[in-house]
Amino acid sequence: MTTPKAKATSKKSANTVITSEQTPIVQALQNHLVFSSGKTSDNATRRDWYSAAAHTVRDHVMERWVKTRDENRARDPKRVFYLSLEFLIGRMLSNAALNLGIDGKVSEGLTDLGHNLENVVEMETDAALGNGGLGRLAACFLDSMATMNIPGTGHGIRYEYGMFRQSIEKGQQVENPDNWLRYGNIWEFQRPEHTHTIKFFGKVVEVHDKQGATKYHWVDYESVVAMAYDVPIPGYNTQTVNNLRLWSAKATKEFDLRQFNDGNYEKAVEGRNDTESISKVLYPNDTSASGRELRLKQQYFFVSAAIQDIIHLFLLKNSDWDKLPDKVAIQLNDTHPAIAVAELMHQLVDIHHLEWDYAWKLGVKIFGYTNHTLMPEALETWSVELFGSLLPRHLDIIYKINYEFLQMVNHKFPGDTDLLTRVSIIDETHGRRVRMAHLAIVGSHTVNGVAALHSELLKTILFDDFNRIYPGKFINITNGITPRRWLNQCNPGLVKLMTSKIGSDFHSDLSKLSALTPLAENAVFRKAFRDIKHANKVRLAERIEKLTSVRLNPDSLFDVQIKRIHEYKRQLLNLLHVITLYNRIRSGQANDAAPRTVIFGGKAAPGYWMAKQIIRLINDVAVIVNEDPAVGDRLKVVFYPNYEVSAAELLFPGSDLSEQISTAGTEASGTGNMKMALNGALTIGTLDGANVEIKEEVGDENIFIFGLTTPEVAQKKAAGYNPWDYYFGNPELRQVLDMIAGGYFSVDEPGRYQAIFDTLLHKGDHYLLLADYASYIAAQDAVSKLYQDQEEWSRRAILNVARVGKFSSDRTIGEYAKNIWKVKSTKE
Ligand SMILES: *Cc1c(COP(=O)(O)O)cnc(C)c1O
Repeated sequence: MTTPKAKATSKKSANTVITSEQTPIVQALQNHLVFSSGKTSDNATRRDWYSAAAHTVRDHVMERWVKTRDENRARDPKRVFYLSLEFLIGRMLSNAALNLGIDGKVSEGLTDLGHNLENVVEMETDAALGNGGLGRLAACFLDSMATMNIPGTGHGIRYEYGMFRQSIEKGQQVENPDNWLRYGNIWEFQRPEHTHTIKFFGKVVEVHDKQGATKYHWVDYESVVAMAYDVPIPGYNTQTVNNLRLWSAKATKEFDLRQFNDGNYEKAVEGRNDTESISKVLYPNDTSASGRELRLKQQYFFVSAAIQDIIHLFLLKNSDWDKLPDKVAIQLNDTHPAIAVAELMHQLVDIHHLEWDYAWKLGVKIFGYTNHTLMPEALETWSVELFGSLLPRHLDIIYKINYEFLQMVNHKFPGDTDLLTRVSIIDETHGRRVRMAHLAIVGSHTVNGVAALHSELLKTILFDDFNRIYPGKFINITNGITPRRWLNQCNPGLVKLMTSKIGSDFHSDLSKLSALTPLAENAVFRKAFRDIKHANKVRLAERIEKLTSVRLNPDSLFDVQIKRIHEYKRQLLNLLHVITLYNRIRSGQANDAAPRTVIFGGKAAPGYWMAKQIIRLINDVAVIVNEDPAVGDRLKVVFYPNYEVSAAELLFPGSDLSEQISTAGTEASGTGNMKMALNGALTIGTLDGANVEIKEEVGDENIFIFGLTTPEVAQKKAAGYNPWDYYFGNPELRQVLDMIAGGYFSVDEPGRYQAIFDTLLHKGDHYLLLADYASYIAAQDAVSKLYQDQEEWSRRAILNVARVGKFSSDRTIGEYAKNIWKVKSTKE
């Protein structure tokens, strides 16, 4: 029976919900086991307990999410929309619990019920909606925007299958589909009320309205429905919960029941499968442009949904289009969403009937574009033919944008026709192609590179023409990583130790880690720091033994290179060192070297044959080295299968040495380098990407720098680089290369790695591995020597942690907010 008092309160406010804060966690876990899974502790599986824990944490997220949305609805602040084809989120449970400050309670609650959070967390499948660094950056940015109370929404695709799952069979990469939604996804909410129609194909007809103005109608198109799925993004230590809106393609037609009844099952679902294939699977490319029609469809699909959604939201509160740039900032994460520049014009001019010139001015005030690569082969272009067939109206719009742009350039630099050819949005030199980077630059007010060196190279080499045309448009904002996931969550032992010594200020301001500096000189602290690293290495070694059956010695130097497999990242150079060390051990020349475990991890794009050969060679070398009794515990090599965010959370804290060895001038920034240093690994690296700034921060004496610099690379190439000079000039190197080519590691198929030898010698060694070899080996020798002085090694590792506060994505987002988006925290 309801008491009169309860009745009165429920009458007072229909909106009052029983807040989850009022329910003890243990109670909530038990309730969810019953009410969300229909289980009791007698028959609950580990997955049921995961579900109960996730629902419990989610309840706490929901209240803040609703509140954040309502406050934003009321205040209508300027918002950021981060458009990205990739969001490499990883697992959500621990991150949400940590950000909400209930991780301890959830952990205790599960323990009380006879379970343990670490085990339960393992049941969550990673949301792997990205390839690598670019997608992970987007995820770190979402975390920082929420933490800093910046009204920021991510827009992307809800891929049914994310990044492929990698297994290693007979030493080779095998790709398996990532059916991440198989057991459902507790963290997403379907929003059938948020749908938009997306058009493809058809043609454009000119019509004249009553006032005699020309209008363009897109007709005879095919359409797909984009339906929103929302994912809450809770900030750390704040009430703000932002939104990640992922779009899913839904067929406009149901399947054909008549065909189905006639037994033609494939025909019955044909059209439906075609349309829904748009959001079916993530393209597993990294840093190389892929010219597939479906990919262009994916890009337009989510961009059009996002732009329609943004305009819809704007019009809920506003009617004056002048205000659009005061309410909306859109960031293009690389060129994948660059079609947004044309889509906004389409929406504003064709649908909302704004004047072209007016709409264009609004657009340029709204867009910012982040470039992520210097490699020309990674710059996206689309054939005019494909583009015009898929998006006829947008091709016309791009022609008009280009015409006006080239007129402006011609006015500024009269008579320079070569310049016009170079900067045109349409490339006329390789068949006619739309250059997406040029569209993004022309359509944005600001273009940023992702590390100081990269931004400088953008201005002076890749986009030097544009930098003359638009002085001041190009800026730098160095990447960062979220310390929540990449320190607090993945390295609780270290956080606890540091908090006990310097307090918790660094939890919300990573630069406060600098207070650790004097502790580097304290032997007791160094010992405690070392013990934590050791425990993290033990944890990692246990996982590796489970996965690969290779037993590791946690006292050895853990030398780790984890990132996408790519020739420019030079996993092969690392392997040349491994084989060199192996030869030295066998010939008795390495008796003073530190015992070492070399760990590789990373996926190769399925179509990238050479990258897959490199994986295979790593595994072949591992077999020979690990089974050689003459080597014993002094050298071990392992390939960690299926590198992904959850694996990274184990690998970074367990690393001693961070391999960041790309050819100078090829890695735009890198963020793995930042995660490593923050978790107390020393870097061995080239002066490339953000390594340059890491060196500035940690100090020259606390990092191992080797190899040619960017200008030296250019000089060497210009002077006629000949890898054979290094082959004949360095007996150790020659021996290593001959072993690879001669089948030492592939006795069953001696010619297996001839192509690798050929790339390095007959084909010019594009990434200058041989030129950097001697300098790399010397740096590795210095690493080995230092590692044997554990006190000094720990001292430098502590200084690394103390000095990398700059690389928090909170600092990065602060710069985007101030210098690009002009948005403020809602809590200021
Ligand atoms: C950080 C991260 C990357 C990027 O690593 P780089 O070394 O910068 O290439 C890629 N994948 C995952 C899972 C990451 O966490």
